[in-house]
Amino acid sequence: MKISEKTKIYKNLIGDKWTEASTGETFLVTNPADTRMELGICQQSSEQDVLEAVEAAKEALKSWKKEAAPERGQFILRAAAYIEERSDEFIKQLILEVGKSYADAKAEVTRTVRAMRYLAGEAERLTGETIPSWDKEVIGYTKREAIGVVGIITPWNVPLAIAAWKIATALACGCTVVFKPSSQTPLVSQWLVEAYQKTGLPAGVVNFVTGPGSKVGNAIANHSDIKAVSFTGSNGVGLTINQLIAKRGARFQAEMGGKNPFVVLEDADLELATDHAIAGGLGESGQRCTATSRIIVVKSIADEFVALLKQKVENLNVGNPIEEGTQMGPVIDQGSMESILNYIEIAKKENGVLVTGGDRLTEGDYAHGYFVAPTIFRNITPDMTIAQEEIFGPVISVMEVDSFDQAMEWANNVEYGLSSTIYTNDLEKSMQFINNIEAGFTHVNMPSTYSEPQFPFGGIKGTGIGGYREVGSTAIDFYTEYKTVYIKPHGKK
Ligand code: NAD
Repeated sequence: MKISEKTKIYKNLIGDKWTEASTGETFLVTNPADTRMELGICQQSSEQDVLEAVEAAKEALKSWKKEAAPERGQFILRAAAYIEERSDEFIKQLILEVGKSYADAKAEVTRTVRAMRYLAGEAERLTGETIPSWDKEVIGYTKREAIGVVGIITPWNVPLAIAAWKIATALACGCTVVFKPSSQTPLVSQWLVEAYQKTGLPAGVVNFVTGPGSKVGNAIANHSDIKAVSFTGSNGVGLTINQLIAKRGARFQAEMGGKNPFVVLEDADLELATDHAIAGGLGESGQRCTATSRIIVVKSIADEFVALLKQKVENLNVGNPIEEGTQMGPVIDQGSMESILNYIEIAKKENGVLVTGGDRLTEGDYAHGYFVAPTIFRNITPDMTIAQEEIFGPVISVMEVDSFDQAMEWANNVEYGLSSTIYTNDLEKSMQFINNIEAGFTHVNMPSTYSEPQFPFGGIKGTGIGGYREVGSTAIDFYTEYKTVYIKPHGKK
C-alpha cells in the first residue's frame, strides 16, 4: 500500500522524548470502514526500545513513588479534564480507528473520564490498617507501597478506556509505566499518553512503545525490572505471557475472552430483552469481551423472541460509522473478518439454523471496509463450536432450553467466566442465577456489557489470571505491596 506523505507520524515516548523506533521501521494504521483512509504511521519497535523505556521508568520511579499520593492523583484529574475538553476529537478518533458507532465511541470516552476521576481518588485512599498488638507498647500498622515499574499491554477493541484505567491505577499507586498498545489501534492510545504529558507529568513516569506483541510485548513480559504486567487481550496470548512471567516470579493480571450468556425466561419483557440483546451482542460489531454471544431462551417463548429479534436486527443501520445514524460499523481488520466468516461457515455445517445475516457486505459503501452482516443463529446447542469459542464479531447464537435449570446448566457450560445476564421479574430465579452463575459479574434485566468504573471489573474461570480486578476499590491491590510495621516508640531495655 502506498503511504501518503501527509499521513501523521506517531512516535514512542521514552522519558521526555518522542523517539523513533531503533529498528527504523514503521507501520501504517488505516480506517477499518474505508481502508483507503490512512490514519497514522507508527513505530515498529523492538526489544531495544523496551529496554530504554524501562530505564526511563526506573529512573522516574525513584521520585514518583515518594511523591505525596494525593499530588499524584492531581495529574490523573488534569489528564481526565484534558480528555473531557476534547471529547469530540477523541470520539471521532475512536470512530475512525476502531470503527465504533458514535454512541459506542461516546460511551468509551465518558467511561474513560469517569474511570480516571474515580481512580485519581484512589491516590487519597491508599490506606492501611492499624492492628492491635499483644505487646501493649507496640504500635502496629500496615501501609501500601508501589510495586515498582509496571508493564501495561492492551487490546485494540477498547484502546482508550482500558489503557486509561490501568495507567491511572498504576500512577495513583506510585508506579511508573511502560505501555504497549495494540498495533491495530495505537493512535488514540498515544493521545492518552499525550494527555498526561500536557499535565506536566514528570519524564519517564509513563513511557509508550508501539510494535509487535511478539517483540515489544514479549520484552515487557521478560524484563526483570518490570515487577508486574497488566494485560488485557485474548486467551492464547494471555496464557503465553503468563508462562514467561511465572518463570521470573513477577506479578501478572490477565483479563481475557468471554462467551457471555443472556438468559431469557417466560415472563421476560421481550421488547426490553431484544433491545438489550442487540446492544450487547451487536454493539461495537460484537467485538467486546462482555458481548452477548449466547442467548439462552426457554422454548415456550423462543419463536416469539427470535421473530422480534430478527425484525429489529434487519432494521439496523449498518455502515460507515462516520455517517450520522450508523448503528453498527465494520470489524477491525481482514484477519478478524475472515475468522468471523469462518465461524459462520462452521455453524452452518454443524446444523445451526441461520436466522439472518451470515455474509460479508461488499456492495457500495461497504466496498472498502471490513463489514460483516449482523448474524443470528438459532438451534445452537452446547456441543457446537460457536457455543463454546469466542467469535468476537456480530454473531449471536440463540440456544433453546426446556427449563430454568437447563438454562443455568448451559449458561455455565463454557471455559470463560466474564459477564452474564438474566431477563425475568421472578425474584427467586434471579437470585438463583446470581448465586450460581460462573462469572465475574452479572446483571438482572440489564445488558451483559453494562459496567461502571467504581465497581470491580474482571473475569473468573478461563477469562482471568491472577484473581485481581480492574477499576473499583480493589484495583489498587495489583499495583501495591503491603508493608507491615511494628514500632516500639521507646528503644530502652
Ligand atoms: P491479543 O491477545 O491479540 O492482543 C492483546 C495485546 O497483546 C496487544 O497489544 C498485542 O500486541 C499483545 N501481544 C500479542 N502477542 C503478544 C506476545 N506474544 N507477548 C506479549 N504481548 C503480546 O488481543 P486483541 O485481539 O487485541 O483483543 C481481543 C481480545 O481481548 C478478545 O479475546 C477480548 O475478549 C479480549 N478482551 C478482554 C477484555 C476483558 O476485560 N476481559 C476487554 C477487552 C478485550
